[in-house]
Amino acid sequence: MRMSRLPPSTLTHLQCASCGELYNAAAPQTVCTECGRPLFARYDLQQARRTLRLDALAGRAWTMWRYQEVMPVLDPAFIVTLGEGMTPLLPVPRLGEALGATHLSVKDEGGNPTGTFKARGLSAAISKAAELGIDEVGVPTAGNAGSAAAAYAARAGIRAHIAMPRDAPRTTMDEVHAFGGELALVDGLISDAGKLTAVGVREHGWLDLSTLKEPYRVEGKKTMGYELWEQLGGDLPEVIVYPTGGGTGLIGMWKAFDELQQMGLIGRERPQMIAVQAEGCAPIVRALEAGEERARPWEGASTVAPGIRVPAPFADDLILRILRVSNGTAVAVSDDEIIGAMAEFAESEGIDACPEGAATLAGLRRLLADGRVNPNVHIVLFNTGTGLKHPELRALVREDMD
Ligand SMILES: *Cc1c(COP(=O)(O)O)cnc(C)c1O
Ligand SMILES: [Zn+2]
Repeated sequence: MRMSRLPPSTLTHLQCASCGELYNAAAPQTVCTECGRPLFARYDLQQARRTLRLDALAGRAWTMWRYQEVMPVLDPAFIVTLGEGMTPLLPVPRLGEALGATHLSVKDEGGNPTGTFKARGLSAAISKAAELGIDEVGVPTAGNAGSAAAAYAARAGIRAHIAMPRDAPRTTMDEVHAFGGELALVDGLISDAGKLTAVGVREHGWLDLSTLKEPYRVEGKKTMGYELWEQLGGDLPEVIVYPTGGGTGLIGMWKAFDELQQMGLIGRERPQMIAVQAEGCAPIVRALEAGEERARPWEGASTVAPGIRVPAPFADDLILRILRVSNGTAVAVSDDEIIGAMAEFAESEGIDACPEGAATLAGLRRLLADGRVNPNVHIVLFNTGTGLKHPELRALVREDMD
């Protein structure tokens, strides 16, 4: 097997992203016990750089686990994979022309197992949980993380307890059931699902896989950054436009760029990181515009894009810091713009975008109109999932096309 010939993981320990406190990676960990903030996996990057080179990657397995040196599972036998990652970076010249952008691409995550990039995070988290001997996990979700968690848990032989809002996409509930996950529906939002999961964690000892309250989902998400680097032959785009809910993707990619720079595989230049949110739930946009370091919870969150209906992202401070240091920004778009962008993706490029992914197109259009993004650099939009998850939006998209 190819997998077993990969150079080993160089994971050394965990470290608090805020106060720097160190933690043992050989035991299950959640958040920093000193300050309550997220923990990051740390690697021996001097060791990793000896083998993690562009030319050495060519013959490796076609999944995100090809970056094994900087992945958190020590024994490859515990890797739980369904073929996640290595998604296409598609040039979209027709969309680019419509927007007046000369070099526009889409990183299309719709082909991932269970149809969204959530597969990356859950493959990493469930694999590490399996290695640590965990047999039950709890996951609060807006929908997509629940279906991915249930799938990887099934493959690992782990029990998954999923909590999601009663109005989450029906497809994601059906998937959880199909994969044998235990599903609880809550009246409310992902934050309310989180409260229910916390009860199970306390009473039954499940491992809490909430976004960034567990250190390894972000390790899966960071592979989107490694893939961009590999797909662009060692370069990065100038601008990344990302639909931001809990922020794991943004934080993960930024971590990948930090690691690549420490390994000498990229220089100091970084993409501008741009967060797109919905007008009905835009805590990060509001905080950035007000110059605040933390984001206040958004009241009455509502949007057709459930993955970005996150009223109180746990890692708000990390997201805001990345937007600022990358010279990026944040922008909110309306549900009508999101529906219109779904139609546009489909009609002009054959890409069946999820509403969250479509939001990036709508967001970019606004930023180009305001002159906040340079139209003549390489801009990458993230389509984080497939439109197949959202049959309930098809009629709206059709109306938009007429
Ligand atoms: C969860 C989700 C998002 C938001 O992702 P974060 O990285 O947590 O901000 C965006 N799009 C889809 C389809 C999602 O499921
Ligand atoms: Zn800390």
